[in-house]
Amino acid sequence: MTESNITEKPQMSLTTKIMIAMISGALLGILINLFFKEVAFVETYLTGGLFNVVGTVFVKSLKMMVVPLVFVSLVCGVTALGDVKALGRIGGKALVLYLFTTALAISIALTIAVTISPGAGFETSEQAAPFEVKEAPSLAQVIIDMVPKNPLEAMAEGNMLPIIVFALLFGIAITLAGDRGRHVYEFFTDLNEVIMQMVYIIMKLAPYGVFCLIATTFAKQGIDIILPLLAYFLVMVSALLLHGIGTFTLLLSLFVRVNPFTFFKKIRPMLAFAFSTASSNATIPISLNTVQERLGVKQSVSSFTVPLGATINMDGTAIMQGVATVFIANVYGVDLTVGDYLTVILTATLASIGTAGVPGVGLIMLALVLDQVGLPVEGIALIIGVDRLLDMIRTAVNVTGDATVSCLIAKSEKAMDMDIFNDPQAGIIKGKVTTPT
Ligand code: ASP
Repeated sequence: MTESNITEKPQMSLTTKIMIAMISGALLGILINLFFKEVAFVETYLTGGLFNVVGTVFVKSLKMMVVPLVFVSLVCGVTALGDVKALGRIGGKALVLYLFTTALAISIALTIAVTISPGAGFETSEQAAPFEVKEAPSLAQVIIDMVPKNPLEAMAEGNMLPIIVFALLFGIAITLAGDRGRHVYEFFTDLNEVIMQMVYIIMKLAPYGVFCLIATTFAKQGIDIILPLLAYFLVMVSALLLHGIGTFTLLLSLFVRVNPFTFFKKIRPMLAFAFSTASSNATIPISLNTVQERLGVKQSVSSFTVPLGATINMDGTAIMQGVATVFIANVYGVDLTVGDYLTVILTATLASIGTAGVPGVGLIMLALVLDQVGLPVEGIALIIGVDRLLDMIRTAVNVTGDATVSCLIAKSEKAMDMDIFNDPQAGIIKGKVTTPT
């Protein structure tokens, strides 16, 4: 049990504040887009000024916490586990489940997209600026890059996989170092608490940050941009919702045997963070906090599964790739074979490994997928206009996948505290905070 300094305000009120911030930010953004877009004052001082500064500072504060939090939390988690075999088992389960859920997600997306067939008869004159294709890393390179040649360099660059590898080794070494290792472990446990307090401080600023981020996005995007791509947009949102709610509800009810409503209710702030930042990576501090303290997954599991998931598990992104591939094939009048669909599933699933969860990364991976099935990558230019909004939704699905798989693994490892899961007040930021270790 640890004392939290953020007292008085229960987390429910923080959740409510964040929700209000999201809705009012969206409304204001739409208003600006419709009526004040050309007004220089609004552009200079609001969207390009105040909102931009507050939103960017908020995202940067979150990112600032990612590396220290992941490293310290993972060292604590591995040391608390104290068992290399268990670590290997958890790692294996995480990898299999993350790949499985991603493959499932893209299969669902392909099925829906092929059935509804968006894009047939679409006017290619809507084409936006040409899309520049960036190289996606090969699987061999991802494996090589997993081992850092310099851990500080990996931390400075925020490369998640090498940081995870270094932290795992560090934690194992602490366990092996006996008594001396214990001192280091105790220090890290204290440090972990200090870093969590920093996260709480940033979370308190969330309503302002979320408001500004959402207002800026909607002011820039508007809703009119969706209209020419309405079919694509709706198919995408349906597939995202079906997987994000349907699949995860099934997995949670069948294998974790928990009430999915409780799960979704408790992860709302995490979803809001993911939605407004469009980055699973920047959401890691909140995801870790939510999975551990609200859902009751012990740190020995969550400290590993959450950062790993934010890096390699992208169900929402895979869904986008499935729907986008079918859409682009339809627009260009290309018939995809069953073999092509299987290639799409395989490529998208493997491409998600080693591609960090940052805004827009899905499009880079989409280029790789299109290339594999011989579709023109320029097709990405057709959908790029609505991608930011969809990115926000799919990032929320991505982090929901991370939380679901964390619960699945924790349940199978007997590392899930059901009292915490079932307690509506658990982990709420007021007075005492339970920190499962
Ligand atoms: N923005 C997504 C994420 O951070 C990745 C993507 O689909 O572009 O999870």
